[in-house]
Amino acid sequence: MNFNSPTKTILVTGGAGFIGSHLCAALLERGSKVVCLDNLYTGKKSNIERFLKSPLFTFLEADITDSVNIEGDIDSIYNLACPASPKAYQRNPVKTVVTNVEGMINILNLAKEKNARVLQASTSEVYGDPLEHPQKENYWGNVNPLSPRACYDEGKRCAETICMDYNREYSTDVKIVSIFNTYGPNMSLDDGRVVSNFIIQALAGENITMYGDGSQTRSFQYIDDLIKGLIAMMDVESFIGPVNIGNPDEFTIKKLAEKVKKLTKSKSNIVYKALPINDPKQRQPDITLAKRELKWSPQINLDEGLKKTIAYFASVI
Ligand code: UDP
Repeated sequence: MNFNSPTKTILVTGGAGFIGSHLCAALLERGSKVVCLDNLYTGKKSNIERFLKSPLFTFLEADITDSVNIEGDIDSIYNLACPASPKAYQRNPVKTVVTNVEGMINILNLAKEKNARVLQASTSEVYGDPLEHPQKENYWGNVNPLSPRACYDEGKRCAETICMDYNREYSTDVKIVSIFNTYGPNMSLDDGRVVSNFIIQALAGENITMYGDGSQTRSFQYIDDLIKGLIAMMDVESFIGPVNIGNPDEFTIKKLAEKVKKLTKSKSNIVYKALPINDPKQRQPDITLAKRELKWSPQINLDEGLKKTIAYFASVI
């Protein structure tokens, strides 16, 4: 069965956020009916403004930590509702935990009631500061449960546990995707993540804020690649995951700063700031599983994705 097909009604929680708004756009383009639920904590009405006229699109301003009641059929649910940048999820850490745990339970109860498939947007943060490199899905991770990042990391780990328990206890149709660092248009100006920070600083001629010495690594995926991976995962049968969706091209943060400076032709200086607590030293997805099970691999390299993202930020700042 095609769970993203035009005959389906799809709930996207966190649909007004960075990833959610791109997902809504792609699903609407396929002709699906989309119900977008968002509490607008980090999501923005402006991200979904252009869909509001569509008869296929409904927006519900609601929070998944309240019990979620939706009239009519829901065939599948993408659960994206949670602040995702370290700056945003640490602003209200208890709420982050509650969103991941109680919110997940509410979404799974809704799925049970509607007999819907649920795709949980998990994260590479479940691997913590990884001792295995690159990270495969069978790596259990190295997370400090006491750290300021833990509200998100442990929250997402617990959400995965709850998905598996609903699957074992109630046969709920669940899927888990581990999303690696993703960037692109619609990221908030105040998001605080590295790609948006560096681009905004470079365009404004302000200092580029390098945390630590910049030798830590990340592997950056352009948003369009992620959306294709999420949709492929929702469609595939008999595969719960977790599956890594990310771009395996790994860069130091220093290299990223140099690329952004070059592509924006910026004269900004790089200034060094303290490394945040428990900032992972390296991160790179092993995507063998996604290639095999989803026939998916990323198509957009960092230079190409940065150019599109720079063009977006240049148009909004
Ligand atoms: N970082 C940085 N300068 C910034 C923002 C982030 O050097 O202005 C670093 C951060 O310390 C981390 C990496 O860039 O090592 C990626 O950070 P981000 O917040 O984008 O995502 P994370 O992968 O840590 O969740």
